[in-house]
Amino acid sequence: MTAEFALRGKKVWIAGHRGMVGSAIVRRLAGEGCEVLTAARDQLDLERQQDVEEWLATHRPDAVFVAAAKVGGILANDAHPASFLYENLMIEANIIHASYRAGVQKLLFLGSSCIYPKHAPQPMPESALLEGALEPTNQWYAVAKIAGIKLCQAYRRQHGCNFISAMPTNLYGPGDNFDLQTSHVIPALLRKAHLAKTEGSDSLAVWGSGTPRREFLYVEDLADACVHLIKVYSGEEHINIGTGTDLTIHDLALSVARTVGFEGSIKFDPSKPDGTPRKLLDVRKLDSLGWRATTPLDDGLARTYAWYREHASKDDSETTGAA
Ligand code: GDP
Repeated sequence: MTAEFALRGKKVWIAGHRGMVGSAIVRRLAGEGCEVLTAARDQLDLERQQDVEEWLATHRPDAVFVAAAKVGGILANDAHPASFLYENLMIEANIIHASYRAGVQKLLFLGSSCIYPKHAPQPMPESALLEGALEPTNQWYAVAKIAGIKLCQAYRRQHGCNFISAMPTNLYGPGDNFDLQTSHVIPALLRKAHLAKTEGSDSLAVWGSGTPRREFLYVEDLADACVHLIKVYSGEEHINIGTGTDLTIHDLALSVARTVGFEGSIKFDPSKPDGTPRKLLDVRKLDSLGWRATTPLDDGLARTYAWYREHASKDDSETTGAA
């Protein structure tokens, strides 16, 4: 057993601190006694190698959380393959290589459960990675994220860097993207249910058949797991982060309707894709490392809806169009 990596007194850089995940990690680090470093977008372009190298050489963090990525839902991935592949490759390669050069002691890279094979055994163990063909709609993002995990392993093997990877399941929470064309399912359904309720519409449009199963992790829980892993884990294999339970999109839509107080019916739209039939992580490794999710879905949905009402619902004077 290696000694715990203490964060107290360390300089910790959160790349992607404005995103849903990065901002949750920043909030979670508040009580850890470390110095949190962040770089504004106009100060540092993560897609530019020289900028990233200069930033790391100047600021010399002890630890790095790689929470920067181009993310999006099922339609966004399908519509922008080049952006999802190129931007994610550049961001992670630049940060990981420059962290090695700057002598970063510990780095946590975040993958995503959607990069496992489309027909992986369920729940998906860490060993399922690269054992089968990817889901075609998000293969571009998946290939880039798999490269990020491999970069951490490669720098560990060749240069002895203590770089680790974690594989979060589908995330949701404050700071999520509520754009109906590019968002994931939870923010999309919260917003659609809210609009249906406020506009007096009697149905909620849900993409696909409603039968796919998904696992959802509240982002504050994810941040807590990331901080736990950076302290206690120093292995080559990525670690799944999830709740260990899933539900159908239909059941999710019912929970969202309850959260929002929408009392109309749910209408499925089979012209939209279902994506992977099921996505549930095997979280036994994480469990054995001493961490478990604590936020029930209904609580997380209520807190996310409250955030949306406070921050994002102002944009909703526009129409929701074809989504
Ligand atoms: P995925 O987990 O990578 O497939 O990403 P998403 O969160 O975009 O989609 C999860 C599931 O929810 C898919 O089966 C979608 O078809 C379904 N879904 C139902 N309604 C919506 C919606 O309004 N937006 C999105 N993004 N997905 C939806």
